Amino acid sequence: MRIIDVREVAVPLHGAIANSVVNFAEHTVSLVAVRSDVRRNGRPLTGVAFNSIGRHAQGGILRDRMIPRLLAADPESLLDPSTGLLSPARVLDRAMRDEKPGGHGDRAAAAGAVELAVWDLLAKHHDEPAHATIARAFGRRPAPTGVPVYAAGGYYHPGDSLDRLRDELAGYVDQGYPAVKIKIGGLPLPGDLARVEAAVEVIGDGSGVAVDANARFDRDQAMAYATALAGLGLRWYEEATDPLDYALHRELAEAYPGALATGENLFSLQDVRNLLAFGGVRPDRDVLQMDAALSYGLTEYARMIEAMEAHGVSRSQAFPHGGHLINLHIVAGLGLGGCESYPGVFEPFGGYSPDCRLSGGLIHPGQAPGFGLEAKPGLGDEITALLKEMAS
Ligand code: MG
Repeated sequence: MRIIDVREVAVPLHGAIANSVVNFAEHTVSLVAVRSDVRRNGRPLTGVAFNSIGRHAQGGILRDRMIPRLLAADPESLLDPSTGLLSPARVLDRAMRDEKPGGHGDRAAAAGAVELAVWDLLAKHHDEPAHATIARAFGRRPAPTGVPVYAAGGYYHPGDSLDRLRDELAGYVDQGYPAVKIKIGGLPLPGDLARVEAAVEVIGDGSGVAVDANARFDRDQAMAYATALAGLGLRWYEEATDPLDYALHRELAEAYPGALATGENLFSLQDVRNLLAFGGVRPDRDVLQMDAALSYGLTEYARMIEAMEAHGVSRSQAFPHGGHLINLHIVAGLGLGGCESYPGVFEPFGGYSPDCRLSGGLIHPGQAPGFGLEAKPGLGDEITALLKEMAS
């Protein structure tokens, strides 16, 4: 198996929603295709993935640095000697050649998209859903009954109201989501508290409501919200402060009795090790949300899970950021805690395809080979266009 071409296209996210820090109206995502010399049904077998949601497309890093390195590599050097197939870890190593250690930012997302496209390619080669390929690669059985899922929404909309929020969350309940997450930090504390209380009222219990500040707060704000939220028994309080301020995270963990969640803006094993060593993570309750598609792909992400477990944090406390098909297959394949879902937002990447069934609070991945991205309305069209461009 050889890589014969790698292409990237920047695809805009649809919609104009915002959290307390970021408006997504101008956001793009890198859709990446890795084409092999293996032919199936008269066509070259091609793996496809993207760099999650929220960190913009990374076409420059891919086209100027990573793709030329892969295409210049000795094809044998990218293979797993035991299978003769592409090795995601070796592809990642080659894409990262001549990159200095540290500073894990945009390049981690660029590399993640390429590495995950190789996983999609391998699963298609085996003609099986990616969760089966991932489970086997890591010596696990794929989740037989689907994985827990919650609806992530509650963004700040133009002309917003509590009634609009209630309607949105009631819609998620009607669709079968057992829990939700909403944004905080976009209003003064009393306004946000009214939103959280409205959410608890709709869901019926604080244990079905998580809140996410998107790293907006300084120390005093984080502590003020901790005090205000402590009595609501929420599912978790997410990213109160800067994701790299481990000392402040430790302080918050000492002050807030409920679960804290963080990790979606940590892009390397070393950053996760630092969080575990210095951030006051409580193995009996806290939640970690690293996202393989933002952090060099599944090779690095699996090492993060190992580091969590070495710290006493169960893999059932891993809920990757980014409610999309790639993480659904990773959660099912690695036996993690669950997935988020963005019903109706972050299209065409957010949410799941029609062949993924939601029942009993679980989302069941479809059986299409690979991550099944081609089956997602809107995204399938973008993939078709990218493959057509590759063929020309
Ligand atoms: Mg978040």
